[in-house]
Amino acid sequence: MKDTLKHRGMRNKLAEIVEAKGITDKKVLEAIKTIPRHLFLDSGFEDHAYQDKAFPIGADQTISQPYTVAFQTELLQVKPNDKILEIGTGSGYQTAILLHLKARVYTIERQQELFKKTKLFFTKMGYRPKKMTFGDGYKGLPEDAPFDGIIVTAGAPEVPKALMSQLKVGGRLVIPVGEDEQVMTLFVRKSEKEFEKRELGAFRFVPLLEDKN
Ligand code: SAH
Repeated sequence: MKDTLKHRGMRNKLAEIVEAKGITDKKVLEAIKTIPRHLFLDSGFEDHAYQDKAFPIGADQTISQPYTVAFQTELLQVKPNDKILEIGTGSGYQTAILLHLKARVYTIERQQELFKKTKLFFTKMGYRPKKMTFGDGYKGLPEDAPFDGIIVTAGAPEVPKALMSQLKVGGRLVIPVGEDEQVMTLFVRKSEKEFEKRELGAFRFVPLLEDKN
């Protein structure tokens, strides 16, 4: 698959749709216009890649809806060089958006098939996260903590304590919390012990699964 002028045109439209739904951060909109989402999908979905919808990516998982990606990214308030932890690499689309914003990205995926596929795809595309880990995102990445931001791209029945503890003071955790339906939740770490919490509307994600071993 290639990236053509036609794809670029569709991306510009997608950015307009996402903007009309309430995203205002110009850098996030620019990222949507830049990252070739169709290349993150299997070729059967190429024609649909620039609809504002989630699509299957194998292993029972989905690439998040572009609006949702933009919404979560906007809440993270990424600055260049920020150290960001992403839970749920999936197709790598959200990772690529964070890389476009010049974050240093650490990303974790627990489905081996997706982990391998996306790792290979990143090499091919020249996308360079700081670290791609195959493992359980509930635990975060203690050896690389603390982070300026943590983004969870699967629905968490509860907020993993490890993730709260791996945030810098001033850092932001964006996490959809709930079982069947999730509430997008933002935690800002105000001090070692205090977190400010904001709830920002209902979303639907595939579940964040815990490895019980
Ligand atoms: N950011 C991805 C979203 C993929 S869906 C994208 O844009 O494509 C959520 C992903 O979270 C799935 O790939 C799923 O396998 C992964 N996931 C679920 N539970 C996890 C866990 N405990 N640790 C790491 N990844 C997990």
